[in-house]
Amino acid sequence: MSAAAVVSASPTCLPRATVASFPVVLDVSKTPSPENVVDHAVLGAEHELFFSDPASPGSFFFLPHGTRIYNRLVQTMRDQYRKRGLQEVLTPNLFNMQLFETSGHADKYRERMFLLEIENQEFALKPMNCPGHCLMFKHRVHTYKELPLRFAEFGVLHRNEASDALIGLTRVRRFQQDGAHIFCRESQIKDEVIAFLELVRDVYGVFGLTFDLNLSTRPENYIGDEKTWEQAESALTEALNEFGKQWEKDEGEGAFYGPKIDISVSDAFNRKFQCATLQLDFQLPVRFGLSYSAEDESKTETPVMIHQAVLGSVERMFAILLEHYQGKWPFWLSPRQAIIFPVSEKSRSYSLKVRDQIHDAGYYVDIVETD
Ligand SMILES: [Zn+2]
Repeated sequence: MSAAAVVSASPTCLPRATVASFPVVLDVSKTPSPENVVDHAVLGAEHELFFSDPASPGSFFFLPHGTRIYNRLVQTMRDQYRKRGLQEVLTPNLFNMQLFETSGHADKYRERMFLLEIENQEFALKPMNCPGHCLMFKHRVHTYKELPLRFAEFGVLHRNEASDALIGLTRVRRFQQDGAHIFCRESQIKDEVIAFLELVRDVYGVFGLTFDLNLSTRPENYIGDEKTWEQAESALTEALNEFGKQWEKDEGEGAFYGPKIDISVSDAFNRKFQCATLQLDFQLPVRFGLSYSAEDESKTETPVMIHQAVLGSVERMFAILLEHYQGKWPFWLSPRQAIIFPVSEKSRSYSLKVRDQIHDAGYYVDIVETD
């Protein structure tokens, strides 16, 4: 249940409490058509959640109430990471182009990166967290006993979208992702994928979002050897079957560096969005020369890298959820969980006390003074 509580405080009588509640999921029978959806940009302005300014197109300002929601979304993932053995890390925003040459972004992604020159050297704002996490893996020697090694980061990412292509919070230049990278052995892929699918199910379940699963397999322009691809695809297939939810196969739709599972969510208006993703990557660990020592210490092996995200872009998920709930946030996600209306000037000090108690208990509470 979601709720907003109203407490009328008076020092001379028992406080009266009025509670208004909304169901977690919108009653779709009352809003059957996507035409009824109020756009997130309209709701965001009305509810004073966020805005943008020509001073920085495609990069949003989150006002206090918007920031409360944004942080709660991030915290939701943090809590899950803690439960599931992912470790949060912080990496730089700015890297020299040598790093992106190693990762391949300089070649394949250059026009979508913000470049700048510092002391005659070309740098770029990172468009994704993967290269930084490869450096983190490479920072010291690893053994097979440490795998799977799971790094998660909410780092700020920048991608150069044309100004006329920017759309509200759904296509932006500055955003954060709940991106995680898992370095593991081939034999560990299946368990990691099942853990990811469970994570997706739990997080989307809390939001009241349903989802569909698609496995994208080896494309024509694949790199790496066929045997590894086959093993990886069968690990993903086994994981999907064991997870038990119906799934579909998109033949030849995988990335050139590995197969992937795409997850599309459906909101209260039955609209589909691509948010969560899991991609296996055999290529990046090779490009960065990553390795770990195997049981026989004289041998080293190359880890498989799994890229995963559940929310995807936090900004975009914010927009999807704002439209999904139409601004009627569930209680735990609401930026305004309690409102106190003092019935008279005399009750003001008591209402302040009540406010402090609710605040100290960890909730967002406001006092509304009326004349
Ligand atoms: Zn990645």
